[in-house]
Amino acid sequence: MSGIHCHRCGSRLPEGTLKYQVAVRVRSLFDGVIPESQEENGEPELIRLIREVSAYSEEDLNRQVYEDDVFVLCPECKEAFLDDIYSHLHPKATPESGRAHLIH
Ligand SMILES: [Zn+2]
Repeated sequence: MSGIHCHRCGSRLPEGTLKYQVAVRVRSLFDGVIPESQEENGEPELIRLIREVSAYSEEDLNRQVYEDDVFVLCPECKEAFLDDIYSHLHPKATPESGRAHLIH
């Protein structure tokens, strides 16, 4: 493990030092509602969607549904990473989640 470096600051993380693995898991959230189809510029919604989707690569389309990344961070960068995420949570965001809900 001597070749491990922090993904954020680049610091070398020798064997035996405290380091963290941060997994980012992003999933498309389907709420069960499909908006009513509307014609735009006289073009049926389905035709427009097919044209739009065919412009993306398979990788781009997959990233719109799910995305997973794993990072190794030093302790300082782990704190900075989490502080950055939690500092951007909107107070009206629901369902409630966040740091307080993750501490067991
Ligand atoms: Zn770091």
